[in-house]
Amino acid sequence: MHCFSHPGTEATGVCRVCGRAVCGACARVAPLALTCSPACEERQRTYDTVIDFSSRSVAYQRGARAPLYSVFLGGVGLIMMGVGLLPAVRYGVPPNWLPLLFGIFCLGFGVVLFRAMRRIARAPADGAGR
Ligand SMILES: [Zn+2]
Ligand SMILES: [Zn+2]
Repeated sequence: MHCFSHPGTEATGVCRVCGRAVCGACARVAPLALTCSPACEERQRTYDTVIDFSSRSVAYQRGARAPLYSVFLGGVGLIMMGVGLLPAVRYGVPPNWLPLLFGIFCLGFGVVLFRAMRRIARAPADGAGR
């Protein structure tokens, strides 16, 4: 493979933007990728910004949905705990253990899920390190 502007020179790399082969004299090493011209270098920077932005917004969306799931689980948990405990509080009978334990489990799982999702959302975006 030879350089696109120097047919006699062996290419050392390929432009990340337009795919043309470039020699050592033509190659421009952008912060993250090899390109062939100032125009391609500029486009490469734009791509990286877009990729960086989109991966960050995906992480944001994942994190933003976490409270919804865990609030739902927590709500179900509280209702089930109420169902289990209400007869015991009202009529002095033993609590209904099945819904009570299920409620505690839901509430606990909601808290664990909330913390796990928050950790995922805060982790650094991994699209830019290619
Ligand atoms: Zn190029
Ligand atoms: Zn060249």
